[in-house]
Parts: sequence; C-alpha cells; structure tokens
Amino acid sequence: MDTKIYKEKLEAELKTLEQELQSVGIKDPNNPQDWIAVQPEENISPADENEVADTIDDFENNRAILNDLEIRYNDVKLALEKIEKGTYGMCEINNHPIDEDRLMANPSARTCKEHME
Ligand SMILES: [Zn+2]
Repeated sequence: MDTKIYKEKLEAELKTLEQELQSVGIKDPNNPQDWIAVQPEENISPADENEVADTIDDFENNRAILNDLEIRYNDVKLALEKIEKGTYGMCEINNHPIDEDRLMANPSARTCKEHME
C-alpha cells in the first residue's frame, strides 16, 4: 500500500491541529503528550461578577474544544506511527484493510466501515 499521500495529509492535519490547540491551550510541561486549556486572555476585574462568570464559560468552552482537538490530534499521531510501523490502513477491530475511499476522506480512521462508530 502506498502511504505517501496519506502521510502528507496527516502531517498537514497535524500542523493545523497543533495551531488550533495552541490557540486554546498549552502543552503540559510535565507531560508533552497532554494539553492544558488556558484561560482566555482578558482583563477581568474581580468586582464584576458577570464578567467573571463569562470568563468561566469561556474557559469551559476552551476545555471542550481542547478535548475534541486532542482526540483528533492523538488519532493523527497514531496514524503517522502506524505508517512508520507499516501497519497503517488496517482496522483495529478485525485487522482487515480499511477501504481507501474511507482513508481518503479520513486518513486517521482507525476502523473499517463495518466497525466505524
Ligand atoms: Zn473492521
């Protein structure tokens, strides 16, 4: 199987995801695999309760976005590792080859169509 085209797609996606992650979080210095959501940069005066509440909402929102990005980021990383190991394009459930049209649409797919969530 020629993985070159998928590798290029995955590397581009990884870069985009990394930029998006950096807009809502920072890498955990103790665990570079992990990302931590950051407080949105705003000058809030503690006296204004409404503003404090808004900031907490923003933070929760950032966390939700970050979690979603992190899952995608890890899937892309995993796919790139599989390319290195030569196991790319195989379903994680039954080890059957994943259809190429599925991989074209989603290069970090981990399962075949039969086992997709
Ligand atoms: Zn399968």
